[in-house]
Amino acid sequence: MVPHHEHGSPPGVPCSVPVGREGSTEAPKVVIVGGGFAGVGCARVLAHHGAEVTIIDRNNYHQFQPLLYQVATAQAASNDVASPLRGLFRKHPNVLVKKATVTGIDPDTATVTTAEGATFTGDHVVIAAGSRANFFGVPGADEHAFPLYSLRDAERLRARIFEVFEDADTRPELVDRGALTFVVIGGGPTGVEMAGALADLVDHVMGERFHDLDVGVARVVLVDRGTTPLGPFSDSAHHYVTKVLSERGVELLLQHGAAEIRADRVVLDDGTEIPTRCVVWAGGLQPSGCGLPDDLERGRGGRLATEADLRLPGRPRAWGVGDLAEIHDHDGTPLPQLGSVALQAGETAGANIIRVAAGRPTKPFHYHDKGIMAMIGRSAAVAELGKHRHEIHGQLAFSAWLGVHAALLSSTRARVDLIMSWGWDQFTKNRSPAVIDDDDAAAIDWDGPAASTDDEEPLEHGEDPDAA
Ligand SMILES: Cc1cc2nc3c(=O)[nH]c(=O)nc-3n(C[C@H](O)[C@H](O)[C@H](O)COP(=O)(O)OP(=O)(O)OC[C@H]3O[C@@H](n4cnc5c(N)ncnc54)[C@H](O)[C@@H]3O)c2cc1C
Repeated sequence: MVPHHEHGSPPGVPCSVPVGREGSTEAPKVVIVGGGFAGVGCARVLAHHGAEVTIIDRNNYHQFQPLLYQVATAQAASNDVASPLRGLFRKHPNVLVKKATVTGIDPDTATVTTAEGATFTGDHVVIAAGSRANFFGVPGADEHAFPLYSLRDAERLRARIFEVFEDADTRPELVDRGALTFVVIGGGPTGVEMAGALADLVDHVMGERFHDLDVGVARVVLVDRGTTPLGPFSDSAHHYVTKVLSERGVELLLQHGAAEIRADRVVLDDGTEIPTRCVVWAGGLQPSGCGLPDDLERGRGGRLATEADLRLPGRPRAWGVGDLAEIHDHDGTPLPQLGSVALQAGETAGANIIRVAAGRPTKPFHYHDKGIMAMIGRSAAVAELGKHRHEIHGQLAFSAWLGVHAALLSSTRARVDLIMSWGWDQFTKNRSPAVIDDDDAAAIDWDGPAASTDDEEPLEHGEDPDAA
């Protein structure tokens, strides 16, 4: 097989002729489960070295999770954050893309089975299926809250957000029943981004669109068990995010957790009830289901344990990368679930597979830390750059966030499209993707069985539930 060199070699991986399985000249066959940052990073490295790659994803696109909140609030269109996988590998005939749902993985034989009845066997299997929402057993969360982990999730949430404004416009009495109350559960980067984006939507966009609805009464409530939003950031970032969100009208309900999500309200653990029809779940992650055997070693949060070279312990043909794996830096530091960690881990796993095939020793994963950042809203972000966490806030951090995330996008076309969308939004505040195109997610049965009755008034925050 002829190797392709159009994009040059990734860092640390010299381009060479195709290497052999266990040192022969035959190219290794690799099955990759998941076409996210980790799977695509791995496939790119392998493709450059002439490996025979089969990448399996239940979607025919690579999705860009950091911008899902922009899809949900119509700042970006769906196709701004989704790139067709076949397009990414169109110049690599040695990379096959299969749209299928993986339901079984045998790490010992590197065999993958799919719900559609297909079986794929390689010399190696790379498990990169990412994560999904973890509702931590909160009753009703699965049924009534809107998670934000996939493009489909973002589209469903967008439909619901714009529907509640329409319903309140048609029946203003619904505002008292929570039509314009948005509750975000979880004050990590996803929850903060979502709360800030909702506040911006209310302040800058909806007022111009609804001429006889008082959108100023809309509430955005951010609920978190901790004492501050963005817990892993520094104290000054905590002060900044608290100040910006408060100035933008976001109500912070800290040291509170969701006890139950019902169709028409959120019940907090102190009994407070918040009437709402739009609850965003940003409360936690668990590994995606992809039919992994029960006897695999697991780390924190059920993530797959990995060796320093990203192989699964005791499974020389299986590799774990991205959010679904517990990954450590070369010095043993546990790494967060970030796009840059997933991308670099995928690349390292790909390079190590090439080394194994060439009969060379593998190398431990070495993370090039670009820092952590979170968008808070229009012209406001926090960034702690590099390994030494040089801290910036405000417009500069906002620009850094845009730059870093544009660079993470998978293609030049995606970057251009997205920058156009951002520019358009910044100057016109006109959000063209603000369409309700998912009737099921949008639909609310205001007068059905879940509707609040007047003889059972929901409690406001701070009221004593026992006194009611
Ligand atoms: C809302 C949100 C905002 C974020 N913001 C940032 C940010 O600002 N900066 C940052 O660095 N990181 C951010 N992250 C984290 C980052 O997106 C993840 O760390 C990264 O996407 C992980 O990459 P991955 O390849 O492991 O998984 P994913 O990108 O989730 O890819 C997994 C792939 O596997 C596929 N898949 C899953 N199960 C199956 C199956 N059974 N069969 C077939 N296919 C399957 C999925 O369809 C998906 O394409 C954010 C995450 C979220 C959810």
